[in-house]
Amino acid sequence: MELELLPLGLPSDSERPFVIAGPCSAETEEQVMTTALQLAKKGCHMFRAGIWKPRTKPGGFEGNGEIALPWMQEVRKETGMLTATEVATPEHVELALKYGIDILWIGARTSANPFAVQALADALKGVDVPVLVKNPVNPDLELWIGALQRINNAGVKRLGAIHRGFSSYDKKIYRNLPMWQIPIELHRRYPNLPIANDPSHISGRRDLVAPLCQQAMDLGMDGLIVESHCQPDQAWSDASQQVTPDVLDFILDRLVIREKVESTESINQLRKQIDEIDDQLIDLLAKRMRISREIGLYKKEHGMTILQTGRYSEILDKRGAQGSLMGIDPECIKKIFEQIHEESVNQQADVMNK
Ligand code: PEP
Ligand code: MN
Repeated sequence: MELELLPLGLPSDSERPFVIAGPCSAETEEQVMTTALQLAKKGCHMFRAGIWKPRTKPGGFEGNGEIALPWMQEVRKETGMLTATEVATPEHVELALKYGIDILWIGARTSANPFAVQALADALKGVDVPVLVKNPVNPDLELWIGALQRINNAGVKRLGAIHRGFSSYDKKIYRNLPMWQIPIELHRRYPNLPIANDPSHISGRRDLVAPLCQQAMDLGMDGLIVESHCQPDQAWSDASQQVTPDVLDFILDRLVIREKVESTESINQLRKQIDEIDDQLIDLLAKRMRISREIGLYKKEHGMTILQTGRYSEILDKRGAQGSLMGIDPECIKKIFEQIHEESVNQQADVMNK
């Protein structure tokens, strides 16, 4: 299904990504105003703050709710910045609109739940407000697209996506794995849908915010939503990932924004070389499969089983190590060989069951 889109119309400096910055949560009027004034002074056009906070466990700061909405009005009045907040229920939508919040976003826990997204869509019928849909916590592109479609079906045409990474049991450097291929595929399917990156929730650590912003720009993302707090270490939520407005300004200043040119002669030349190599790869794979089938025949004639795990582990280890010597991530090589092996097994099974 196509999405019916209009430009988001969010302010940005020419050719630069749009930037929404502000604290994870609106904690006190003073914290909101201090942060907002500092951001505005740095030239920021859009202010974010969570009014209702979805928390993994009870007992954390769950947001101030309605009493914090006039602080957002004050931000708008004092700084001219547009304001943005997360909505998770129809009641949040109603209140956010009542207090003139300019931009709404749907959080990762909400976009994972079609009932909740549909309830929001129903509340947004006939309302012209930009809505940004964060990826669901689980790496499911179809669920993300489904959420975007539900909101779009309600008539919201100023629609965008936020890539905030995906939750995983095995936390390594990132709080949420970026899995860049997912927003890239979203962009391939909906080239006109703006996508912003949220380096704060991906990283969970302030030292990784800058490199993630740059990576998002290198992939041609349209905007950034970054958590910024006047006193990050004192923040009531997500303290470790927030940066001061000063640091944010420093990060944004140093971003290299590459031009989005479709292709140049030199790129086309390089792509031709890639195409040739891909042809050779497929040729080689087909040859490898033919040999697998021969092995299958041999195993059939000699009553052997298909799977010989010793051989399989040997291939994975040997090729992983070889890849790493040649500057390719051994994990990537392993994944490729797992796929090749799976197809080999299928081909052998095919021969043996004939
Ligand atoms: C947030 O933006 O503060 C937030 C709660 O984000 P997410 O929904 O991505 O976890
Ligand atoms: Mn947060």
